[in-house]
Amino acid sequence: MERDLSAMERDFCVTEEVDGHRWGRFKASNLLGGKDWEMCFNCGMIRRADKQNKPCKGTPWVGPRKPSP
Ligand SMILES: [Zn+2]
Repeated sequence: MERDLSAMERDFCVTEEVDGHRWGRFKASNLLGGKDWEMCFNCGMIRRADKQNKPCKGTPWVGPRKPSP
């Protein structure tokens, strides 16, 4: 089953965009056990409390898109 990124994006509330990160929260945060952490939609990194995360490196948790056979 393919990930529906557009549907995920619809459920993601962006709070701030810094250094390539798109920080925000999923409305239904099942991914994080219901905890209300800010995370990056692009790379999945959890935002540090001091906000000193390194710049965004992309999407290791989504992976490269491959055409279906
Ligand atoms: Zn990021």
